Amino acid sequence: MEAPDIDELVPADRTLMGPGPSDVHPRVLRAMATPLVGYLDPTFVDVMNDVQAGLRYLLQTDNEHTLAVSGTGSAAMECAFGNLVEPGETVLVPDNGYFGQRMGEMADRAGGDVATVDAPWGEPLSVADIEAAFADHQPRVVGIVHGETSTGVKQGDIDAIVDVAHDHDAYVIVDTVASLGGVEFRTDDWNVDVVYSGSQKCLSAPPGASPITFSERAVEKVWGRETQSNSWYLDLEGLWSYWGDDPAYHHTGMTSTLYAAREALRLVAEEGIEARWDRHERMAGALVAGVEAMGLSILPAEADWLPSLNAVRLPADADGGELTATMLADHDIEIAGGLGALAGDIVRVGCMGHSARPSNVLQTVGALGRSLEAQGVDVDTGAGVAAANAALDE
Ligand SMILES: *Cc1c(COP(=O)(O)O)cnc(C)c1O
Repeated sequence: MEAPDIDELVPADRTLMGPGPSDVHPRVLRAMATPLVGYLDPTFVDVMNDVQAGLRYLLQTDNEHTLAVSGTGSAAMECAFGNLVEPGETVLVPDNGYFGQRMGEMADRAGGDVATVDAPWGEPLSVADIEAAFADHQPRVVGIVHGETSTGVKQGDIDAIVDVAHDHDAYVIVDTVASLGGVEFRTDDWNVDVVYSGSQKCLSAPPGASPITFSERAVEKVWGRETQSNSWYLDLEGLWSYWGDDPAYHHTGMTSTLYAAREALRLVAEEGIEARWDRHERMAGALVAGVEAMGLSILPAEADWLPSLNAVRLPADADGGELTATMLADHDIEIAGGLGALAGDIVRVGCMGHSARPSNVLQTVGALGRSLEAQGVDVDTGAGVAAANAALDE
């Protein structure tokens, strides 16, 4: 057999303004080049402890059972549902976005009976509808998506939703993959049972070290299971044998990925979590000001706006596929098209982590205008850039 001819990799120099991955800080890139040690080396156990401390701060929780799942956000989603849901239990999930629907698929594979609570794509769920769904279905577990990446909607009232669920002795799992570290989220103050996220969105680390935390109440449910969960790899008991106090081999720790996550979490701690939420709101606010001054609009109502992911409505004569292609080819900027029910209607512009910076915002607004003009769409690029620029001064 002949050896394949594999060229040296020279990646394109992109600015990442899509739904993730986001731009990675040079300090985090450098941390990935740190020499490897064994997965039980005392220095690596220290790394894991630092990661856990950083994750607790990021998640605003004192939960002991806090760790990074080896895998992307979907692996953390599977870990949450796979451990918390027992076969035959009813699981209530949202139907107002792509990732709520994915929760339903995972709950189904965990053996749950899936019921849905609906809202139009582009709107959050109402607490009243969730209360009504409790009356109709009596779920044991409720899934909620804090930042729905397919619609750019922030689900508010998390604490009120948790109260409804707890009044019925049910458990709440919240997906914060697109929001954690970018948009206010308070695991303990809001009494959430399980929260999971990803590393390549607002944390701005490479994908593969996905935060997850279980409250004591959730852990008791998992320890009390009558059946084993379907996944060996994501079983909390196995994971905790490695991440707990007396680490033993379960599966090989993600050495370089955890070095990177640790550095990204150091950056969060240095900035301060509140300052980081505020920065996302200001940077994405300038982006939105630019987009609107250009003559475009944002899909969700202002109260439901998710700063980390901005769903920009396309004018009828604009082609979203062509727009994302031009942004990439001519401007080296990655944005994304619409998903599911919104395919063709919106483009999705992220503003996450290290990508939430003035230079990225100004570039993106200008390039968006130019790329639309190239299609013959009537937008005022100059007014857009001026408005974004002015908003950055506020
Ligand atoms: C990106 C995303 C996921 C899936 O994460 P992956 O890292 O792609 O596996 C889940 N939920 C939401 C809200 C997301 O934005």
